[in-house]
Amino acid sequence: MSEILSRHGFIFQKKYGQNFLRDVKIPRRIASECTEYGFETKEGEKIPALVLEIGPGAGILTKELSERFQKVLAVEIDENLKDVLSETLADCGNVKVVFGDIMKTDLETLLEAERIDKNGEKLPVSVCANLPYYITTPIIMKLVETYGKFDFITVMVQKEMASRLCAKEKSAEYGSITASLNLYGSVKRLFTVPAGCFFPKPKVDSAVIRISMHNPPKYTKEQVEKAGKVIKAAFSVRRKTLVNALSSALGCDKEELKIIIKETLGVPENVRGEELSTEQFVKLSEKLLP
Ligand code: SAM
Repeated sequence: MSEILSRHGFIFQKKYGQNFLRDVKIPRRIASECTEYGFETKEGEKIPALVLEIGPGAGILTKELSERFQKVLAVEIDENLKDVLSETLADCGNVKVVFGDIMKTDLETLLEAERIDKNGEKLPVSVCANLPYYITTPIIMKLVETYGKFDFITVMVQKEMASRLCAKEKSAEYGSITASLNLYGSVKRLFTVPAGCFFPKPKVDSAVIRISMHNPPKYTKEQVEKAGKVIKAAFSVRRKTLVNALSSALGCDKEELKIIIKETLGVPENVRGEELSTEQFVKLSEKLLP
C-alpha cells in the first residue's frame, strides 16, 4: 500500500486525521466483525446489505468490505486519493466512491438512492469505518441523528474515546456523549488496535466499537429531543449535583426539581448526572419538559 501511495506522490494530511492501516489483518477483522447480520448466505454469496464507509483512505478496509457485502459506498474528503483509489479498487465493481465532506453530505438522499439493489429491493444499511480522529464525535452523532435506518455502526476510534462511548453510568468515563448515544443504540467494545498498526503512527492506541442501533427505535423523536436537552444540561457542569446543573442550565426551580427527581426516579436529591442511565434521563425529561 505504501508503494502505491508514494508512486502517486500522495502526501499525508494531518488535518484530515490520515493514519492509514498498515496491513490487511486489522481491516479484515473489522470487516468480518460487521458481518453479524444474521443473514443466511451461501458459500461465495455476498451479504445483501449496503455498507457506508467514511474515509476509505487508500482503500484497505474498502476492499475487505467489498468482498463481503453486496454494495459499498465510501465518502472521502481528500481528492488527492482519487488515483490511488482507482488503482486499489480497480477490481471492486460493487464499490462507489464519492468525494466530499461527510459532515456536509446529505446522507438521507445518498443512502436511499444507493441502497436499491439490482432487483429494485431496498438493502439494509450499516456503517463501517476507521474514523478520522479529529471529528469522531460529530460524525457519530450525525450518523445516529440524521439517518435512523442503520443496523450497525462499526467504527475504529481512539482508545479513550471508545471507553467513553462504551461507559456505564457511575463510571469516570460516562458522560453526555455516552448517555446521548444510548438513546439510539447500544454500544459494545470489540477489540484494541495498537498505534503501531498505522502509518503515520499516532500517539495513542485505538479500539473498534459497534453500535447496534435500536431497530425499530426505542424512543420517539420527541423523547430523544427532550432527553437530549436534559442530558446536555445535566453534563454542562461536571461534578455538580443534578439539581444544581439542571436549575442553572434550564432555569428550573431547585425545590421543585428535588421533588421531581425523587418522585420520578426514586433516587436521592443530591444525585449527580453521571449516576443516571439513559432510561432515567428519558423519564426525567418527560416530567421536566412535558
Ligand atoms: N480507511 C483508511 C484506513 O483504515 O487505512 C483511512 C482511515 S483514516 C483514519 C481517515 C480517513 O478519513 C482519511 O482517508 C481522511 O482523508 C478521511 N476523512 C477525514 N475527514 C473526512 C471528512 N470530513 N469526510 C470524509 N472523509 C474524511
